[in-house]
Amino acid sequence: MDTEISIDLGRLDPEGETIEGEADIIDLDEEFVKPFGGVRYRLHAQLVGDELLVTGHLEQDFDLVCSRCGKDFDTTIVVDDFTESYPVDEKSREIVLTSDARDSIILNLPSYPVCEESCPGIAADVRQPVDGRWAALDGLITKKGNENG
Ligand SMILES: [Zn+2]
Repeated sequence: MDTEISIDLGRLDPEGETIEGEADIIDLDEEFVKPFGGVRYRLHAQLVGDELLVTGHLEQDFDLVCSRCGKDFDTTIVVDDFTESYPVDEKSREIVLTSDARDSIILNLPSYPVCEESCPGIAADVRQPVDGRWAALDGLITKKGNENG
């Protein structure tokens, strides 16, 4: 897989052109944020005066950890409005978009990812005994309550 997203100005259609592909550009290696596959991109590049205007769509799959329940889940971070412009002159040969594309994906990562909006978090499991000994204790408490009542 490519490790850069770049536009070859020598081959760019003067009318503008759409480039598509997949590039492995997210080098995060965090315990709770794991990218997998590459960034899929579909970008339109066009020279406007002495600037190259690039707009379009980026997406990247991640394995994240839910901030409520702590479980892993897969999600796709989508950037639908990527927009950057780059100054060009007669010496410019290639415009590299890699770091801008990477930044816009990372900026769209949620600060508090949730596996689903309705995720109740770990609180919902509090009544479930995690250990058999707790279950026994629960039984004692119930019994005692019945004797008193
Ligand atoms: Zn969750």
